[in-house]
Amino acid sequence: MSRVYNFSAGPAVLPEEVLKEAADEMLDYRGTGMSVMEMSHRSKPYDTIIKEAEADLRELMNIPDNYKVLFLQGGASQQFAMIPMNLMKNRKAAYILTGQWAKKAYQEGKIYGEAIEVASSADKMFSYIPDCSDLDIPEDVDYVYICENNTIYGTKFKTLPNTKGHTLVADVSSCFLSEPVDVTKYGVIYGGVQKNVGPAGVVIVIIREDLITEDCLPGTPTMLKYKIHADEGSLYNTPPAYGIYICGKVFKWLKKQGGLSAMKEYNEKKAKVLYDFLDESKLFKGTVRKEDRSLMNVPFVTGNEELDAKFIKESKEAGFENLKGHRSVGGMRASIYNAMPIEGVEKLVEFMKAFEEKNA
Ligand code: PMP
Repeated sequence: MSRVYNFSAGPAVLPEEVLKEAADEMLDYRGTGMSVMEMSHRSKPYDTIIKEAEADLRELMNIPDNYKVLFLQGGASQQFAMIPMNLMKNRKAAYILTGQWAKKAYQEGKIYGEAIEVASSADKMFSYIPDCSDLDIPEDVDYVYICENNTIYGTKFKTLPNTKGHTLVADVSSCFLSEPVDVTKYGVIYGGVQKNVGPAGVVIVIIREDLITEDCLPGTPTMLKYKIHADEGSLYNTPPAYGIYICGKVFKWLKKQGGLSAMKEYNEKKAKVLYDFLDESKLFKGTVRKEDRSLMNVPFVTGNEELDAKFIKESKEAGFENLKGHRSVGGMRASIYNAMPIEGVEKLVEFMKAFEEKNA
């Protein structure tokens, strides 16, 4: 068996320990004689799996009791619609546009009401986070929406926007559990898990209880109401059961690593290896304003498309997978989520140095 260094933006690398444990339990989960994949979601062993997953996530993120944790489906993209359908009582919401995923959410929001762009970094190809300390936010918006870590462009909010008292909704898909968060600052935190947490097919929504109401927009399908999932403990219908089981294992792995503060320290150390090299390289350049750099997604270019293509080809041959930038921006991107070991980044930098010597 040989595993590559997988720099995919998502689905992405998972802790090897978790994958091995899941493999060991594949045919007979702890004496049940069946795989978790084959198990009723209403069975006793599954009840333990989902409850433990929730409890471990609550512990990791220090989630207060007045927040619900929902394990849903439909990917992060389904939340682009669920959020306005459930939260847009005044049919008005403010969006901060820091990249394609924020823009998609904003466009979806427009289907349901007045989605207002209150800040944007589109003027410089989303290479920075705009100043959000004093935005012009209308009084009657239902929420202020951000994409906290921009997977494609490699930017991250280092301070949350001043929402002027309005509910903050954040897509944290690509920075989920990468560092501690103060949950009380948000009304809704949500993310697809396929980057830092587990297999695609699960989206986790952490939502303050007072935002969960019967009062959704007319025509909201039952499956898209937070209330139904909250009331049923994420078991209104068959949940993405196996995916939740893997998320649960990743939560336990994170606890073993020392929790989110330890993870942040490790992620900072790991990202520094790559950013320090980019800052001194004669060939490679980071594309993001320094103070807004993400710890998770690191885009870079040589400034020459042919050289970029050569680098992507040769790096793949050397065992570094998925370094191609998003199809909309080109160049390269190394996604270095929680489960990417620091050795992976060190080896990548060694490879980049050798490439630079030959090609600069
Ligand atoms: N938000 C962010 C920040 C993302 O990176 C992605 C996927 N790359 C999405 C939303 C969309 O996720 P999904 O494919 O699960 O709908």
